[in-house]
Amino acid sequence: MIRKIINGIICDGSGRKPYLGGLEIEDGRISRVFYGPSRDEGPDVIDAHGKVISPGFIDIHRHHDIKALYDPSFGEIEIAQGITSVIGGNCGLAAFPNCDRTREAQFRYIEPCLGKMPETGMHLFSEYMDALAKKPLAINTGSLVGAGACATAAMGYLTRPMTEEERAKAVSYVEDAMKAGAVGLSFGIMYEPECWLSREDQIAMASACAKYDGIVTCHMRGEGDSLVESVREIIGICREAGARLNISHFKATGVRNWGSKIDEAIALIEEARGQGQYVTCDAYPYTGGATTALSLIPPSVLEGHDLSYLGTEEGAKKLREEIYRKQDGWDNMVESIGWERTVISGVTLEKNQWVSGKSVAEIAKELELDDPCKWFGQLVAEEEGKIGVIIMSMSAEDVDKVLTLPWACVISDGLYGGGGNPHPRLYGAFPKVLRDYVRERRIMTLEEAIHKMCGMPAERAGLKDRGLLKAGMKADINVFDPEKIRDRATFADSRQLSEGIDYTLIGGEIAAKDSRLVRRDLGCVLRR
Ligand SMILES: [Zn+2]
Repeated sequence: MIRKIINGIICDGSGRKPYLGGLEIEDGRISRVFYGPSRDEGPDVIDAHGKVISPGFIDIHRHHDIKALYDPSFGEIEIAQGITSVIGGNCGLAAFPNCDRTREAQFRYIEPCLGKMPETGMHLFSEYMDALAKKPLAINTGSLVGAGACATAAMGYLTRPMTEEERAKAVSYVEDAMKAGAVGLSFGIMYEPECWLSREDQIAMASACAKYDGIVTCHMRGEGDSLVESVREIIGICREAGARLNISHFKATGVRNWGSKIDEAIALIEEARGQGQYVTCDAYPYTGGATTALSLIPPSVLEGHDLSYLGTEEGAKKLREEIYRKQDGWDNMVESIGWERTVISGVTLEKNQWVSGKSVAEIAKELELDDPCKWFGQLVAEEEGKIGVIIMSMSAEDVDKVLTLPWACVISDGLYGGGGNPHPRLYGAFPKVLRDYVRERRIMTLEEAIHKMCGMPAERAGLKDRGLLKAGMKADINVFDPEKIRDRATFADSRQLSEGIDYTLIGGEIAAKDSRLVRRDLGCVLRR
């Protein structure tokens, strides 16, 4: 156990100006924070001369749900970035709850984002939390409950709103999760089956979350042409439900929307905030997004069919008719962004591995195809939809504008199902902000960035004793050189751990030295 960290630059996570000082730790918590230089030595003292002392970073938007349960390496990628607490269950996508009838389809659907989920016999979110609690965890691990999972468990992948009975079932799943300590409810309205639900369905689930003062997060119906209507939709739902709202990975996709749509959406949020509604957002510092190939297939193509339809002549024809035209109320990313900006990041079948890391346009060129649409449909059918894609869909100016909003916190949106070449945000989102935004381009101060990574996300997730350096708070702490901390993952070569953090403490114990884990048992399950 570390007793004292001294002579560092205290950046306390609240956004206030850093100052020279130190802190004392007792029983895993910070007992005192003090100004000025001091003298002390011993194996339980860290002299942080020239280094920043900050709270451990908190990533409220990751997709580690399955990874945390089964992979003993869980925590390595995170701790290398200074992340000591993570919240999963985002974008409505989750393995729990599930039901016997639809479990297989649900696990298949989430695999490109969350990784492969084995059969466990567990159904409920509360069972998932209990299973996590029995595992040694390298970092603190919590979760939202996914509205998509609740709806799927209640009704399956049907293209209609829920019946009253199904709605009651879905709400009971949300309640089970909130009682088990979920930090809130995540919507993924862009995805099946949520895109078919009624407003009443959504308000009912959001209300159940609000009853426990959980946060509602939302991957919106549309992030391109329909961004503004989608923001309006979720603000309305949360207003009626009386729920606090955090908009997930806030951005404007589609080349024609760059530099304009985001301003309209920001104005709408500012208006709601001005009226006293709790509305915030989070964002990752990259111009490319990652998702599953399924989100590129217009819903109008598959209505009434399963994925194998895309491999048929008729399905190919239908796909070609639909994928190149603007669709009402649904973001057609292929149409608005183009095949040349759509990169396949992971496939499951051995024979298709050669496409990983290439844009669909590049692949078409190699295969000498005039139009890759039919090939793409066949690939989706063959891989049963289990294809990770990276879409270079955003403008750098928009991304900077969003990240510097005073109500935007930093997230990774790290996906673990991406196969060979995952999105670099999984490995580098937090250090990238400190390197790129703070050190190199100087468009954010150190204290602003740390606030967006600590105090701000802790408040949203209701983590009352984390995110700040203050007496009484858990001693989750980073000590790093602000000139050295850096991300190394790029779109071309993403599996590169970040570096530059001298010490990371969890509960007052050293969890990592030089950005590498030295203990794998210091984390706990986070319950709201
Ligand atoms: Zn999402």
